[in-house]
Amino acid sequence: MNKKTLSFQAEVAQLLHLVTHALYSNKEIFLRELISNASDACDKLRFEALDNGALYENAPDLDVRVTFDKDAKTITITDNGIGMSQQEAIDHLGTIAKSGTKDFVSRLSGDQKSDAQLIGQFGVGFYSGFIVADKISVESRRAGLPAAEGVRWVSGGAGDFEVEAIERTARGTSVTLHLRDDADEYLSPWKLKGIIGKYSDHISLPILMEKEEWKDGDLIDPNDEKGGRQPGQMVKTGEWETVNKASALWSRPKKDITPEQYDEFYKQISHDFEPPLAHTHNRVEGSTEYTQLLYIPSKAPFDLWNREKKGGLKLYVKRVFIMDDAEALLPSYLRFVKGVVDSADLPLNVSRELLQESRDVKAIREGCSKRVLSMLEDLAKNDKAQLAAPSVEGVTDVVSEEDKAAAAASEGKYSKFYAEFGAVLKEGLGEDFGNRERLAKLLRFASTQSDTMSVGFADYKARMKDGQDAIYYITAENLSAGRNSPQLEVFKKKGIEVLVMTDRVDEWALNYLNEFDGTPLQSVAKGAVDLGKLQDETEKKAAEEAAETFKPLLAKLKEALKDKASDVRITTRLVDSPACLVVQDDGMSTQLARMLKQAGQKAPDVKPVLEVNADHPLVKKLDGSVHFNDLAHILFDQALLAEGGLPDDPAAYVKRVNALLV
Ligand code: ADP
Repeated sequence: MNKKTLSFQAEVAQLLHLVTHALYSNKEIFLRELISNASDACDKLRFEALDNGALYENAPDLDVRVTFDKDAKTITITDNGIGMSQQEAIDHLGTIAKSGTKDFVSRLSGDQKSDAQLIGQFGVGFYSGFIVADKISVESRRAGLPAAEGVRWVSGGAGDFEVEAIERTARGTSVTLHLRDDADEYLSPWKLKGIIGKYSDHISLPILMEKEEWKDGDLIDPNDEKGGRQPGQMVKTGEWETVNKASALWSRPKKDITPEQYDEFYKQISHDFEPPLAHTHNRVEGSTEYTQLLYIPSKAPFDLWNREKKGGLKLYVKRVFIMDDAEALLPSYLRFVKGVVDSADLPLNVSRELLQESRDVKAIREGCSKRVLSMLEDLAKNDKAQLAAPSVEGVTDVVSEEDKAAAAASEGKYSKFYAEFGAVLKEGLGEDFGNRERLAKLLRFASTQSDTMSVGFADYKARMKDGQDAIYYITAENLSAGRNSPQLEVFKKKGIEVLVMTDRVDEWALNYLNEFDGTPLQSVAKGAVDLGKLQDETEKKAAEEAAETFKPLLAKLKEALKDKASDVRITTRLVDSPACLVVQDDGMSTQLARMLKQAGQKAPDVKPVLEVNADHPLVKKLDGSVHFNDLAHILFDQALLAEGGLPDDPAAYVKRVNALLV
């Protein structure tokens, strides 16, 4: 391959430009990212060598070496891992294969602070080298290929890069950073060791630096011992020393690991720049033995909702890296969890297909799900916002000092978690039947009494009115649409709290939950309202009488609206509005049907029930009106508008209203 110049994928070029600016205040992470790549490359070699021992080329000891050259102003990170072929260097360093990259880049604004956060969620890996370097040269040879098939890749980080074939005997990759003038500070062994200790101590691979020792300067007059000397300096000795702990973090006892080390390990495996919200670290013994170290991120990744996104944990078998994104280790509704599982039982050559079927994996998956749920339960318990939630009158919670301390440490954490991942968690209701009850306890909603998503079913139950025997909820496009819905009028009048559910998944997820702790869940938009004991005798009687008196009118309305409404009936749920739409008990809500249609999916044509308010002047006026037909249609279309829908024929609606106005 002759030397050639190639262009970066358009998104890479844009990203590079922004990375250098956005990450300027957090420069030193470049070393963590490059060491992390080097460590991944060694993991990959170890894995491929399970099938093909020749890849070790008789040199099975893997390590990463960090060197620097003060005069040339360079830092070099060298690994003897899997390396890259010429084509791989072009593909892997010139494009970003991650799904959603385009979307991600389009969200970068040039604003340093918000970009830094986004980039943190995305992970820039190799390209972070350009924060400190104005030129990077990479030399590599893939394990197993002949020396003549080495590759040199060089770029100044603007629009393009150069590649050429080189002779390279050493297997693996060297990344040389030509430092910018303002990055001189990294040309110091202390500085580099400090950063490695901070970010990479937990990497199981040894990271080596060349030992230096102090050498006195030469005597100015060689014959005079007491005469002056040239200035002394540190010189390299040719000996290498390991500068990190080099033992896999998860295999060390908990008590030997500091919170900072846990956080750093998280950052390394997740490429997140922010510390995690919580972690759990356990060695599980029993029929299957494994170690789990699981983290809950504090921010959702940019591609949480991307269908192609792979969730999952890193899988190791007896410390040997097996695969990233092992989806089989956690159900998909926990795809936001990051971490490591190290199994003592699985075979080293386990494949993704095998994972799906393994009984050990099933046990691990269950164990990990339970752990994550306990972690969330703890956060919820200690969330101060939750502790401070209105408690039942006259009952003072007894909170121990210990609980108080735990609460202070995790104040607001559950709300934070919920804002980021609550919607994903709800998918679990349909996916993980075994944990449905635990999941239900973890859900939070806004309500007619709370603006924030902080009401759990248990809080709701504790505040239920005497005689109330259902948990009422409404699904809506947003909080204000839900709260102002005519369907809530009677609930408001009677002071009954209604949960307002505004997540897209709510309606679907609630299909899987009929009750909470023995109390049925009831959508206020489905079926006829039956407030049961909450309704007094006079109200019931009035409703029955109205139904009788209005029978002929209802029949006429039904006839006029036969293409639109499946039924027309009198309701007690309305106070101020003349009419509203509801669906039959077992029907799909109009809200969900609308959402499916917007998403381009097939939805059954739901013909809702029109419920009318017998006390409303408009309804009273209907009978005998010469405009009966127009009024009937207006009544229906307005009910549709009130719940955020659109009349089938908006022009016809406008025409009718105008005709009446004139
Ligand atoms: P990521 O590591 O998140 O995939 P990077 O931008 O850091 O993204 O690296 C892109 C790709 O380049 C890696 O996935 C890997 O295939 C390759 N790569 C980077 N560094 C090395 C290395 N030291 N040895 C072998 N391959 C590497």
